[in-house]
Amino acid sequence: MGFDLKARLDERRARHRYRQPQVMDAPSGRTTRVDGRALLNFCSNDYLGLANDAQVIAAFQDAANHWGVGSGASHLVCGHQRPHQELEEALAAHTGRPRALLFSTGYMANLGALTALVGPGDAVFQDRLNHASLLDAGLLSGARSRRFAHNDAEALAGQLARSPAPRKLVVTDGVFSMDGDQAPLADYLDACEAEDAWLMVDDAHGLGVLDGQGRGTLFAQGVNDRVPVYMGTLGKGLGTAGAFVAGSEDLIETLIQFARTYIYTTAMPAAVAAATLVSLEKARRESWRRDKLAALITRFRRGVAALGYELMASDTPIQPILIGGDGDALALSRVLAERGLRVTAIRPPTVPEGQARLRVTLSAAHEEADVDLLLDALEAAKCPS
Ligand code: PMP
Repeated sequence: MGFDLKARLDERRARHRYRQPQVMDAPSGRTTRVDGRALLNFCSNDYLGLANDAQVIAAFQDAANHWGVGSGASHLVCGHQRPHQELEEALAAHTGRPRALLFSTGYMANLGALTALVGPGDAVFQDRLNHASLLDAGLLSGARSRRFAHNDAEALAGQLARSPAPRKLVVTDGVFSMDGDQAPLADYLDACEAEDAWLMVDDAHGLGVLDGQGRGTLFAQGVNDRVPVYMGTLGKGLGTAGAFVAGSEDLIETLIQFARTYIYTTAMPAAVAAATLVSLEKARRESWRRDKLAALITRFRRGVAALGYELMASDTPIQPILIGGDGDALALSRVLAERGLRVTAIRPPTVPEGQARLRVTLSAAHEEADVDLLLDALEAAKCPS
């Protein structure tokens, strides 16, 4: 057998699934620069336009001057710095929970939370479109993993009722990263409460974006008090990096004792925490960012629908255009790049077979004219002249 890496790579290339990072020579903001060309950027998750905000950058620089660059060790070895502590307190207050705990990435927060909460003999129930980090976390936990049809509360209720496991944890994205739609949380909570199960929501794409104060999907859907485990990331709507889990005193103490991705890794730089304190406050107060985003979303959806492209049922800044074939999605992405627009083609295994798409993401950093340029390019790509 041996390791025939080349054959494996060649096969991936032949299936139009080869992925490579492109090198940007400018920040990933409203525009960016690749291969010497300026591109309008429609693939960042910086939904509120905070990643390149002058006040957030200044907070980062000031904190780096004061606290240095590296945090030095994990949270528990030396202790974490004052900005980490203040950010945990601010995130707990923002999400309406007694405590919050920082993780260095969202991937690690999910691995840490699931492995700390369930193990062999328990059961985890996942939406089949959940983010890869949740699916991996379920496997790593050793609990029995079950997947239910996307956003199907009835299917979930049936699986929960049939499960003999002593502890049942239901896990879902709040806003689905590749589809942009929201999970039906009230229905899930009814199912969970009937079976004594817990619900954990990964709100990577809802935090900052949904609800009048950017408190995320749970507030937008009016269910915050009923969800025991909330996970949010800082690298998307809040424009920095890292993640947190928020919940009860006992939940957070449990994670501190048992979440290995919290215990055995270096804490994020204090400057990232300090910058996030500022971006969180801006996300909360500057509701014009969400208002602007909502107007851009409406403009884009109207325009794309009029062109006859297939959109998904999303009212969030994630506005994928469903294409189908991998090669077709790649080709459209390249045509847009030639016209100065950066929109990534998302292909399996990130999305199901036959559902390759252009994942358009909108940001408060965009202007109406930017959306119009994208619409013009999509129109031209439809009817080559
Ligand atoms: N959950 C979801 C739903 C995500 O989309 C992502 C990021 N793509 C993550 C978790 C992981 O977060 P991070 O990038 O901070 O590791």
